[in-house]
Amino acid sequence: MDFALSAEQQQIRDMVSEFVDEEVVPVADEIDHTDEFPQELVDEMAELGLMGMPFPEEYGGAGLDYHSYAIGIEEISRGSGGLGTVVAAHTSLAGNMVYEFGNESQKESYLTPLAAGEDVGAFALSEAGAGSDVPSMETTAEKDGDEYVIDGGKLWISNGSVADTVTVFAKTDPDAGNKGISSFVVRPEEDDGFIVENTEEKLGDKGCPTAELRFDDLRVPEDRLLGEEGEGFVQALKTLNGGRITIAARSLGIARAAFDEAREYAGEREQFGQPIGEFQSIKHKLADMDTKIQAARMLMHKAADKKIRGEDYIKDSSQAKLYASEISREVANEGIQIHGGYGYTKDFPAERFYRDAKLNEIYEGTSEVLRNTIGDQLLDN
Ligand SMILES: Cc1cc2nc3c(=O)[nH]c(=O)nc-3n(C[C@H](O)[C@H](O)[C@H](O)COP(=O)(O)OP(=O)(O)OC[C@H]3O[C@@H](n4cnc5c(N)ncnc54)[C@H](O)[C@@H]3O)c2cc1C
Repeated sequence: MDFALSAEQQQIRDMVSEFVDEEVVPVADEIDHTDEFPQELVDEMAELGLMGMPFPEEYGGAGLDYHSYAIGIEEISRGSGGLGTVVAAHTSLAGNMVYEFGNESQKESYLTPLAAGEDVGAFALSEAGAGSDVPSMETTAEKDGDEYVIDGGKLWISNGSVADTVTVFAKTDPDAGNKGISSFVVRPEEDDGFIVENTEEKLGDKGCPTAELRFDDLRVPEDRLLGEEGEGFVQALKTLNGGRITIAARSLGIARAAFDEAREYAGEREQFGQPIGEFQSIKHKLADMDTKIQAARMLMHKAADKKIRGEDYIKDSSQAKLYASEISREVANEGIQIHGGYGYTKDFPAERFYRDAKLNEIYEGTSEVLRNTIGDQLLDN
């Protein structure tokens, strides 16, 4: 058992960390304020190979192991939670769907530009009436000659309004429950009938557009089907399983940002003639915050390790995501507390960390649903 990062992993951490300190941290408040998609940062990340971290170099990726990828997402999210979602949804969800379930020609056409960061990806699974309950989705894809005609809509799709490639889930056999779901590559610029209805105003996660999409007689050629008809539900579960490791990473990044800021403040702010960090209650808060961060990081790397080894990691990624997301909200909450009144204002980023952290408990499996998954795994259900 080796808890140390390899030289390559350390190098990735240093490289991304430097990029984040120099390019992301200085504009993070602005992104939070304007809520604009940070295209310039995405272009810079593409140059650094950060838009295709886990994909092989032959498909335009950086060929990193999953630990390094998670480290990359942790660092990016330390700078901006919204940017963390942009990269995670693009890579772990959209890119992974094509990488894992696409054929060679689909990988060449759609994964390579995603991994190189020339295209942005989105993953369109959730619907207004089908969030946790994926099989109740109503979007359909009907075969018509050598095309599929997709009708319906999706809600809360990260990157949905800016994406060049959207992996869309739809029912090809509405009577077959979760076995009737299939997935497709949709290209908004090429395919008529792809409509962005709206982008949400959100508590946090600013900079990553969360879109409501509508598909109105959207026709895609049959070669856009990923895998076989009826495999979409299992593909989604497998993809979310890997994605949860990177939401643990996003959670960690935000928790670290909140912790670093609070520790610094505790050394500077004086009350009763001494830095507040010298009060035992503040010291204990910092101790608890760091301990939770360290524990969450271990769960994240344990899940990544099992994924790399090809072992079943459903329980591990669920636990990593569940724990890391809850502690990121707790750490960010204590971050505000340590700042006192200043923490509740926009004078400090403490409140942004709190708003960004909350999302981790909701997307890619709510905490309640993850507890169900973990419980089922424990009880062999
Ligand atoms: C900012 C943002 C970005 C997102 N990005 C994407 C994206 O890129 N792609 C995408 O497809 N989706 C995305 N989502 C959707 C997200 O995955 C869903 O919101 C999430 O799965 C929960 O679904 P829901 O909102 O319908 O809540 P519901 O499923 O309605 O749940 C409501 C409450 O009931 C609880 N609940 C539901 N079922 C159970 C159960 N069986 N047992 C116990 N409790 C239960 C939930 O835990 C929750 O507390 C995003 C959401 C947000 C907010």
